[in-house]
Amino acid sequence: MNIHEYQAKAILREYGAPVSRGVPIFSPDEAVAAAQSLGGPLWVVKSQIHAGGRGKGKFKEEAAGEKGGVRLAKSVDEVKTFAAQMLGNTLVTIQTGPAGKQVNRLYIEDGSDIEKEFYLSILVDRATGRVAFVVSTEGGMDIEEVAHNTPEKIVTFSIDPATGAMPHHGRTVAHALGLTGELAKQAGDLVSKLYRAFVEKDMAMLEINPLIVTKDGQLKCLDAKVSFDSNALYRHPDVVSLRDTTEEDAKEIEASKYDLSYIALDGTIGCMVNGAGLAMATMDIIKLYGEEPANFLDVGGGASKEKVTAAFKIITADPNVQGILVNIFGGIMRCDIIAEGVIAAVKEVGLQVPLVVRLEGTNVELGKKILTESGLNVIPADDLDDAAAKIVKAVKEAR
Ligand code: ADP
Ligand code: MG
Repeated sequence: MNIHEYQAKAILREYGAPVSRGVPIFSPDEAVAAAQSLGGPLWVVKSQIHAGGRGKGKFKEEAAGEKGGVRLAKSVDEVKTFAAQMLGNTLVTIQTGPAGKQVNRLYIEDGSDIEKEFYLSILVDRATGRVAFVVSTEGGMDIEEVAHNTPEKIVTFSIDPATGAMPHHGRTVAHALGLTGELAKQAGDLVSKLYRAFVEKDMAMLEINPLIVTKDGQLKCLDAKVSFDSNALYRHPDVVSLRDTTEEDAKEIEASKYDLSYIALDGTIGCMVNGAGLAMATMDIIKLYGEEPANFLDVGGGASKEKVTAAFKIITADPNVQGILVNIFGGIMRCDIIAEGVIAAVKEVGLQVPLVVRLEGTNVELGKKILTESGLNVIPADDLDDAAAKIVKAVKEAR
């Protein structure tokens, strides 16, 4: 689960990490009040969306002005103007994809005088099974690019869970960032606070880009991106309450209600599959035959008729879907349940696009019989290749 920058900073503040003062707002009038309460003389108006690259992003609407999704303001009036330009408009960044994201809230923050920008992140390193730090002097820019072009500028280390963050971890960070004296002390302090926040809140990732040194010699977290381990959310109701569902895909939210593993994608062929591996293989073979999958969907091993119906409805509700491929291996799952689920869903929502069904395994004959006798326009397929070829052909013919 992801949260907004201002929410992440509130958590960091709770743990004593240095962040700027700021106020989240939803309207230009609130922006004025926020700017007045902060006092200035420099403010930053920051779009709150669940995507990075906001500073270099561009708004789709001309009325939103030329500047990006993070703007420096030198007066209360300017804060108000920027807020009015940005609210309700669509920000496109390298992380949002071409469709962009609508900006519905802003964070009005104290402006900092930046001396240097660094990068710092914490994540779970699956190779070592530990919490790892990634730090670099190359802050404020795309870390993937730094990793690719100048990997020597990235320092990583992991932390032994038995000891937690130790003074030497702080010294490693200070050394990597070229910090000495008072700033090195601040770095040590920051490392232990961030580590505590990360572990206690069950974060999956915490990224500070940039971590800055101000002109008056303070280390500060100027941006904060946090995601949480969904499996641990049950023990953090405070974190769950931060969820902003308007930032999430409506189809994915619907799918999560039925405990379906669903991820929306950009292609044209909706897939309903059981088992993550089979789902991946199905997506691959659709691509191999020249089309793109519209989603990843694993209905799971023991799906009920209701679950299958919900899944089918989510797929058909996607306007990008031009054809549907149902690919089920009935191990624990029974093919007749799938057939009944598909029929129930089609009765409810209709079927406007070609549907190819490939069933194999438990009760396969019964499943096929149910589908044939339903009178639905289902194209049966024998194996994975056959199924992919048939759905791609049907989609192309229907265009
Ligand atoms: P994003 O990573 O989404 O572009 P950031 O929060 O990192 O958003 O902001 C982009 C840039 O804007 C930062 O690298 C920094 O240079 C500047 N910036 C952000 N917040 C402030 C602030 N409070 N004061 C001064 N400059 C800021
Ligand atoms: Mg940033």
